[in-house]
Amino acid sequence: MLRTAIITGSARGIGKAIAHRLVTHGYSVCINDIPSAKNDISAVVDEINSEYRSSNSRPRAIGIPADVASSTSVESLIQETAQKIGPLTLMVANAGVTQIKPLLKVTEAEIDNLLSVNFKGVFNCYTHAARQMIAQGDPKTAAGVETYKIIGAASIVGFRAFPLLGIYSASKWAVRGLTQALALEIAPHKITVNAYAPGIVGTSMWDKIDEGLGGLEGRAKGESLKLYSEKAMLGRTSEPEDVAGLVGGFLASPDSDFVTGQTMVIDGGVVLT
Ligand code: NAD
Repeated sequence: MLRTAIITGSARGIGKAIAHRLVTHGYSVCINDIPSAKNDISAVVDEINSEYRSSNSRPRAIGIPADVASSTSVESLIQETAQKIGPLTLMVANAGVTQIKPLLKVTEAEIDNLLSVNFKGVFNCYTHAARQMIAQGDPKTAAGVETYKIIGAASIVGFRAFPLLGIYSASKWAVRGLTQALALEIAPHKITVNAYAPGIVGTSMWDKIDEGLGGLEGRAKGESLKLYSEKAMLGRTSEPEDVAGLVGGFLASPDSDFVTGQTMVIDGGVVLT
């Protein structure tokens, strides 16, 4: 088996945890993030290559900065990865941004900015990865796997909107729709398409949400994260590793070969679907 993954937005947070999990399961990985995060990308690549030895001449990790909002950048990201450590067997469209604002105050430019990453960025990753996989041919012949896999980042707010996260919520509903539609269109090529919907994960993104909600609703630093985490049946804030278990563990493994078109919630019991 020759398994290779790209994880976008993996210089930190959930993406970084997924990349680490994938490497422990035998994948070689491409760490991607925005060009201004190039030092963080290199740090993750070095961490992985010093911890895990390669059994062949390919490195276990490479780093390629690229903005997922740009179609041509995503196309180059995929081609370079396939040339250096490929064939590409898994794309994880994880990169995302958030915004905390009442809908009546949101500007057109803010909608464009958020959707360019959370929707168009996922679209770019999904479609260019699918083209690459189709061009590689049968997954068994090309890489010794039964199915190629494409996975995207949704959210629990893609099932039930949260106030003040309106545009972000809408972008994550869009990811669910795109995931269903692409799964239907490319199943004959032995490509599965699924998404993951985390809850309240303690990352830089939630630092921003905590600050925004606290400012608008009059709570001190850390209180919004605590308040929302307490809504989870399992009673704690989620860790990036919880999400990595679903994505880098189950969804990236042969155990998910017969799963497609789904968005799976991993939130400790905040939202029941
Ligand atoms: P994070 O902010 O810690 O990390 C996101 C990474 O994506 C950052 O390193 C950032 O630089 C990168 N990124 C942003 N725009 C990019 C672009 N245009 N091109 C390439 N990279 C870009 O966030 P996180 O909490 O790790 O979230 C990861 C994903 O999970 C996101 O899609 C997010 O919406 C989703 N999610 C997070 C939570 C949560 O509670 N943290 C909950 C549900 C869903």
